[in-house]
Amino acid sequence: MRQLVTSAPVARSVVARYVAGDGAAGAVAVASRLHREGLLISLDYLGEDTHDARQADLATQEYATLLASLAAAGLTGGGAAEVSVKPTAVGLGLADHGEKMAAENISRIAAVAREAGTTVTVDMEDHSHVDATLRIVRTIRGEFPDLGCVIQSQLRRSAADCTALATPGSRVRLCKGAYNAPQDVAFTTRAEVDRSYARCLRALMLGDGYPMLATHDPRLIEIGAAQARLTGRGPGDFEYQMLYGIRPAEQRRLAAGGARMRVYVPYGSDWYGYLVRRLAERPANLAFFARSLLTRS
Ligand SMILES: Cc1cc2nc3c(=O)[nH]c(=O)nc-3n(C[C@H](O)[C@H](O)[C@H](O)COP(=O)(O)OP(=O)(O)OC[C@H]3O[C@@H](n4cnc5c(N)ncnc54)[C@H](O)[C@@H]3O)c2cc1C
Repeated sequence: MRQLVTSAPVARSVVARYVAGDGAAGAVAVASRLHREGLLISLDYLGEDTHDARQADLATQEYATLLASLAAAGLTGGGAAEVSVKPTAVGLGLADHGEKMAAENISRIAAVAREAGTTVTVDMEDHSHVDATLRIVRTIRGEFPDLGCVIQSQLRRSAADCTALATPGSRVRLCKGAYNAPQDVAFTTRAEVDRSYARCLRALMLGDGYPMLATHDPRLIEIGAAQARLTGRGPGDFEYQMLYGIRPAEQRRLAAGGARMRVYVPYGSDWYGYLVRRLAERPANLAFFARSLLTRS
């Protein structure tokens, strides 16, 4: 399936909707355009699950190059464009000292980001990596307190994690979660995941950190706005986040209304895993993609 999808010419047009090109230059061009439209950006260099230390190092270097290009384009001031990093792309999955390597590589990226005037957010992956990822974040925050982390409302533990993380200056992105997880650790129905999202959101909004509401769900966006009003948060005290290519009109509507609206922009040639997660979230896109493959490849 992977072979079929990645080699089909039609994949290009579907990929281009969600992915900002193969290299840093294309990603910076997209970031510049979004910035001109009043949006904030978080760039993600695609790649995950590496078991190769050299590959983890190359991904780390790519982030350093990207941050230099963003700074040169005047996009890093005030954190207008930051970066998102997957721990398994920078070594977490390595059998020997994976956690140590990921922590060192994320620290290196955080140091370059600080130099450029911006921040890093550590993405959350499969549930089996949550404890290690939160340990890495806690350690690195000693030196880089503005390091962001992600909580997935689909996990049963997440409301407690949100309460623990809602400390002064703590940047926490709340999403539903894009990875399958067993029922003993995760809610399995949409309604339960959504209710958990609302509980997590409340814990973050009531706390002292900086909540980042990553969702395209209109109901949860409304609940977020209501919670912000109730807890006395102004437009600068939290932000909305959405993925590049998903609900772009809503992104612009929120920004035009004065909200901080950040677009997560992935780039790079290793787009397969990312694209499959996006298609799985929206069966209508999957049907469209499958039809295109059958009729044009
Ligand atoms: C900025 C950002 C960062 C993220 N980081 C992580 C992370 O670190 N770890 C992680 O596990 N997950 C991450 N995610 C993914 C997230 O967990 C969800 O899988 C994804 O956002 C879909 O959930 P939703 O909240 O938008 O709600 P859903 O219930 O999936 O969707 C709500 C509505 O949004 C629209 N929509 C959703 N998806 C699509 C689509 N593909 N195409 C068109 N319309 C769509 C539809 O109108 C849908 O009804 C991130 C998401 C965002 C926005």
